[in-house]
Amino acid sequence: MRIPRFPTIVRTFYTLSNYSARVSAQTSYKALHPFSRATVLKSMPTIPFLSSFFSSSSSDKMSYPLEKSNDEWQAVLNKEQFRILREKGTEAPFTGKYDKHMPEEGVYTCAGCEKPLYTAKHKFKSGCGWPAYFDSIPGAVTRHTDRTFGMERTEIVCSNCGGHLGHVFKGEGHNTPTDERHCVNSVSLNFSKDDKAVEGAKTESKV
Ligand SMILES: [Zn+2]
Repeated sequence: MRIPRFPTIVRTFYTLSNYSARVSAQTSYKALHPFSRATVLKSMPTIPFLSSFFSSSSSDKMSYPLEKSNDEWQAVLNKEQFRILREKGTEAPFTGKYDKHMPEEGVYTCAGCEKPLYTAKHKFKSGCGWPAYFDSIPGAVTRHTDRTFGMERTEIVCSNCGGHLGHVFKGEGHNTPTDERHCVNSVSLNFSKDDKAVEGAKTESKV
């Protein structure tokens, strides 16, 4: 059997490793970007629109009373909480633990910082697959215009830590005092039967 000379082996190895690096780079690009570059360019009429497609929500540039680095958040949140609260992810519909949760009283707090956001009285059945509230505790939730994915939506975040909660939809015809639906990820929330947390929030907002 003929043993290949050393430079040939090196060349072969280099070609192979280069090839696999290229393949894995393409794979991870596709995983991160579900639309191929060509599709995006063809479907995007103007450059400003193209940039707005990729720009994330304006909430990224905001500052909040509670600021933590990504490392600090990763230390206190589980993977799914980090993905949704800090990376603006969305849980699958009809899977969240508070979707069909309809308590008589109690308060829903931010899973990131425990600030009270909604009371049980704000919750209503919308059938959309995520917990729905017609209003929040005053000042607890901040709205931003979200222009990702070529749509204009109103993103809602926790006013204390900036954690992503979900989106607000208006004028859908729900029989509620506001006809607004705060569509919130269960993962972004915790629930406490104790309404005292809300009393604390009211006192703070008066200061
Ligand atoms: Zn928070």
